[in-house]
Amino acid sequence: MHLMVLGGGLAGVTSAWYLRKAGFDVTVIDRQPDVALETSFANGGQISVSHPEPWANPGAPATILRWLGRADAPLLFRPTSDPAQWRWGASFLAECLPWRARRNTEAIAALANYSRNCLRELRLETGLRYPYRETGILHLFHTRQACSALAKRASELEALAIGAEVCDAKRCLELEPALANAREDFCGGLYAADDESGDAHLFVRKLAEKARQAGVQFVLGANIRRIHEVDGRIESIDIEHSDGWCEQLAANAYVLCLGSFSPLLLPRTAERLPIYPVKGYSITVPVSDASRAPSTSITDEARRIVFSRLGEQLRVAGTAELNGFSTDPNPRRSQALIDWLERYFPGAGAIEQASHWCGLRPATPSNLPIIGRSRLLNLWFNTGHGSLGWTLACGSAASLAAMMSGDRPEPRFPFMVREDWAA
Ligand SMILES: Cc1cc2nc3c(=O)[nH]c(=O)nc-3n(C[C@H](O)[C@H](O)[C@H](O)COP(=O)(O)OP(=O)(O)OC[C@H]3O[C@@H](n4cnc5c(N)ncnc54)[C@H](O)[C@@H]3O)c2cc1C
Repeated sequence: MHLMVLGGGLAGVTSAWYLRKAGFDVTVIDRQPDVALETSFANGGQISVSHPEPWANPGAPATILRWLGRADAPLLFRPTSDPAQWRWGASFLAECLPWRARRNTEAIAALANYSRNCLRELRLETGLRYPYRETGILHLFHTRQACSALAKRASELEALAIGAEVCDAKRCLELEPALANAREDFCGGLYAADDESGDAHLFVRKLAEKARQAGVQFVLGANIRRIHEVDGRIESIDIEHSDGWCEQLAANAYVLCLGSFSPLLLPRTAERLPIYPVKGYSITVPVSDASRAPSTSITDEARRIVFSRLGEQLRVAGTAELNGFSTDPNPRRSQALIDWLERYFPGAGAIEQASHWCGLRPATPSNLPIIGRSRLLNLWFNTGHGSLGWTLACGSAASLAAMMSGDRPEPRFPFMVREDWAA
């Protein structure tokens, strides 16, 4: 059976890998000249199982209101005339209800735990080499109120099979001595020793090489213009190559992994996907003084900023902007990341050589990715991974491959399951 995976980011390439392993013939289509050049290019690098809480939680509306109008707010809502943005916003508010947030947290935790295991198995099986560190993630907290709630938070994580150590400021410094300059900035933390960090872009490129060797075809520089549906099935897709040549391609089944662009090409007869782009920023700087750079990945919980050491580079990423599909950078938000790097780890990186980037997280209101079969008989989804696409990539793809092979996926997660698919 020939499958066409639409999109060659984290979701697309991991899907291609696991589907090939399950015995399918696979072709990946992407508009960029190489894989992982859009949102999977320069993310925060964290495999953050210890952060299963969705953005939509009971505290979110008040926090967003507090930040309204601040150009440096970690989460910025810029209203547009796009009805999809308003629909997304309304659903986001509904997902903030306590019972929904709890249900979403449990589902994310189950998929994230499974996904980290899949990633480790994949590394063992393939010998894949890319910069990564199994040194955990340290989440830092700033207020006495937040620090006094850490024990409760740790026991909630434990109930989700996620280990986290409650740390006072002294213990945070023991775990990450490079934080010495930021000592006044935090009063405690949660340390998730099992978490890791790594370069998602290099991971995808290396995995694509392995997939090619295993027989996966890649059609790159190919912009998908249209998906044709006839009688409840996808019949073909129109693509335009980078030299302007157009052609129609067909397969037995299709997997949609187009990130934030996933809803835009869907035929009307398919379901409407509640995915909207949430823009985020990162800077990447070469490490200039290793003794001042963190070796543990760090999350600043209040400011929603993460720091990861990726080989000889330091990545700082964060902020969320809901303002449509524009990837125009806002220099103030990029500068804020440089300022945080200087404040936390002064002298660690060559900031004059910083590479600036922004990408569009394919976010659903619930934070849950959409994985499984669509209403159309031969169209499948693996998309909408929002802020956790690296963390959830391998587990989502392995689960999709299980479902497409007629097996039950392992994690307890609300996959889109329909019984009438015959592989
Ligand atoms: C600032 C920032 C920090 C982040 N930090 C983390 C983190 O620390 N940990 C974590 O787990 N996640 C993180 N994420 C989230 C993660 O990066 C994303 O969830 C993930 O990259 C999404 O992968 P994807 O494959 O769904 O989308 P993409 O990587 O965007 O892939 C979609 C692909 O589809 C292709 N495409 C789109 N339209 C077309 C078309 N018409 N024709 C052909 N091809 C098309 C694109 O070229 C692209 O390659 C972060 C995101 C951002 C923005």
